[in-house]
Amino acid sequence: MAGYRELLARVKEEIDEISAVEAHERHAQPEPPLFVDVRETDEWEEGHIPGAIYTGRGRLEQRIEGLVPDKSRPLVVYCSAGSRSAFAAKALADLGYESVVNLAGGFSDWKRNGYETTIPRVLTPEQRSRYSRHLLIPEVGEEGQQRLLDARVLLVGAGGLGSPASLYLAAAGVGTLGIVDGDVVDESNLQRQIVHSTDRLGEPKVASAKRTIEALNPDVNVVPFEERLTSENVERILEGGWDVIIDGADNFPTRYLVNDASVWHGIPVVHGSIYRFEGQATVFAPGAGPCYRCLFPTPPPPELAPSCAEGGVLGVLPGIIGSLQANEALKLILARGDTLVGRLLLFDALGTTLDEVQVRRDPYCPVCGDSPTITEYVDYVEFCATPVRS
Ligand SMILES: [Zn+2]
Repeated sequence: MAGYRELLARVKEEIDEISAVEAHERHAQPEPPLFVDVRETDEWEEGHIPGAIYTGRGRLEQRIEGLVPDKSRPLVVYCSAGSRSAFAAKALADLGYESVVNLAGGFSDWKRNGYETTIPRVLTPEQRSRYSRHLLIPEVGEEGQQRLLDARVLLVGAGGLGSPASLYLAAAGVGTLGIVDGDVVDESNLQRQIVHSTDRLGEPKVASAKRTIEALNPDVNVVPFEERLTSENVERILEGGWDVIIDGADNFPTRYLVNDASVWHGIPVVHGSIYRFEGQATVFAPGAGPCYRCLFPTPPPPELAPSCAEGGVLGVLPGIIGSLQANEALKLILARGDTLVGRLLLFDALGTTLDEVQVRRDPYCPVCGDSPTITEYVDYVEFCATPVRS
């Protein structure tokens, strides 16, 4: 049986090593290798190499493929002195990573050379417990959770779609939720708008939603806009600087305003709509795919728009579509997975089927096309006195 020193020496013969000086040079390259920190959590929290990702040695094999799916990506593995990471580098090579080097001398040498380090913000014990199921998945983890806490999502509408979307985003720890809605809670809303409740009848929806969300998660700051989105207020509302917009609007004029504003501000919109038993969802990401006007350049003429009396909807349907919207928003914030950019998802609640159609950016689109013809906000007239409820 080989002793530890013998084993370490043998492993070191099988891996490539670089010095702190060389690691620092590579770190400064325009496309630096990915630094992987395999120390204990408390060591990481005291400081680490900027841009490094963290995965403790104990779970390295289990987590690394989720964190670094591309096995050709060059990796620099480090621990405090270069021994634990030597074994880690060997394990990564065994897993098929093609370009792995060990930082000889580890983080200690890096620091001794006076190179830059980062002290990560850490979650409080309460947050660690609240978000523990996120921390367990490598695609979120502590860094992802911090991203969520820093994120700002604007929900247009606190109705059927905005209810589940806001609740799940709040539960997930999205730190700031703006909510735009000028309505008050009505009895007929409660069949599907689950962020509200019977004791809120007559209360502004934004106030009701704020109470429910803040009771669910004190980490979330709700910014209420008790108004209907118009060409007059859209710029002021967007001033807050939002990472993602969730469109849960219940009428065409608002959808077009949201679309045009998002294109001009470069903010992705997670779109959802519902009608009776049918729901749709997609992501309009300016520059990366089509916008709403690529699909529907102008609103339908009033005689073709669904009449108000027909605006019924199965109560759970907005729950499903709004949850899909929350899912897309979380992925956009985390920059993980494939979003619905360029894909329109169609859900049929009666048949329980899910279909998707490809949607493309239209170079002749009046807003995001190559020669836009619409360059100012348009206020379309509401089609009916009581709009179709989301
Ligand atoms: Zn477009």
